[in-house]
Amino acid sequence: MPIKIGIPKELTPGERRVAMEPSVVQKLTKLGVEVLIEKGAGASAHVTDADFGDEARLVDGAAALYKESDIVFKVQPPSEDEIEQMKDGAVVIGTMLAHKYPERVAKLRDKKLTSFAMELIPRISRAQAMDVLSSQAAVAGYKAAIMGSDLACRFFPMLTTAAGTIRPSTVLVIGAGVAGLQAVATAKRLGAMVQGYDVRSATKEQVESLGAKFIELSIKAEGEGGYARELTDEEKKQQQDELAEYISKADVLITTAAVPGRPSPKIIPTSTVEKMKPGAVIIDLAAEGGGNCELTQPGETIEHNGVVIHAPLNVPSQVPLHASEMYAKNLFNFVSLMIKEGELAMDWEDEVIAESCLTHEGAIKHEATRNLVEGA
Ligand code: NAD
Repeated sequence: MPIKIGIPKELTPGERRVAMEPSVVQKLTKLGVEVLIEKGAGASAHVTDADFGDEARLVDGAAALYKESDIVFKVQPPSEDEIEQMKDGAVVIGTMLAHKYPERVAKLRDKKLTSFAMELIPRISRAQAMDVLSSQAAVAGYKAAIMGSDLACRFFPMLTTAAGTIRPSTVLVIGAGVAGLQAVATAKRLGAMVQGYDVRSATKEQVESLGAKFIELSIKAEGEGGYARELTDEEKKQQQDELAEYISKADVLITTAAVPGRPSPKIIPTSTVEKMKPGAVIIDLAAEGGGNCELTQPGETIEHNGVVIHAPLNVPSQVPLHASEMYAKNLFNFVSLMIKEGELAMDWEDEVIAESCLTHEGAIKHEATRNLVEGA
């Protein structure tokens, strides 16, 4: 009997992605796996049941799918109700957000399911092709630049027309990680004059290689593992003061700054927003962690002194087709590590498998999550 991988329809409101795409069905079939798809699972990403091809088996309803699936692929963390329906011994792989849903982790543990959190995969070179944080951040960065151009009262490119020459917009991107660099690249393609800023020095070359100008400030804050560290209160104040001049001249400001395990750093105080031009736009991609702007209201679009502050949540879901394609390929690359000759075979010595495992055989394997759910 081949292993069965099931893909249910995502139920989280506003979630349009699906954890599978047609080329991945073919690749899994070649590994000796049978792919089960709940009818209509891809509809909100505009992937029809027929698109998944003859190799995929369509299943009527989630209950029937969970009953049969040895492995379940999810985009959003499975709800307690979904976990309840999964069969004994099943493996579930997806984004788990354990800090947000500790009760779901407890349920996974109690049901003795094996669960893997894609966001916990170590960010080492070998695992780049499994990195959902990167693939989905790239989608969000692209979309942020498009949102900025849409909400702006100006063109991004210079336009020379019979009605005169229009100056290009200035787009400033704060936080030049995966999302920020994609926002820089997209705003550049749209013809804007683009500036990038980050507290990590390594980003200077990356921003400049995209043809944008890097804003160099006095503060440097390299942290562990290639990430930024949190700034001290003094550094925060200094950064806000030094950045205010650049922000006041920007037509569109895209902010993506994040520090692992911490709320989004507040980089733009109200006083800086009040220095911006009327009609200027802030796209706060850090809204998920509370936002980089003091005025940000996650999930809302507000206006302050003529400045639009847009703070979208779950941005990758707004580009559902390609975001699903990238996500499904990340899942495939991960699951291939644990399928040998059509059978499930987990190598617990492999750090990619060991570090991303959330629950297994009735225990919470991930230490920080165990402390959160069971107390330190
Ligand atoms: P992230 O989402 O954690 O943060 C976004 C950016 O915000 C980062 O560039 C960070 O330096 C910046 N930032 C934090 N505080 C700031 C502040 N106060 N002011 C300005 N900027 C601030 O980061 P990410 O996009 O997930 O990636 C971070 C790093 O990890 C990058 O160097 C990236 O290349 C690296 N990475 C490595 C791999 C791999 O090797 N497999 C995969 C993905 C990312």
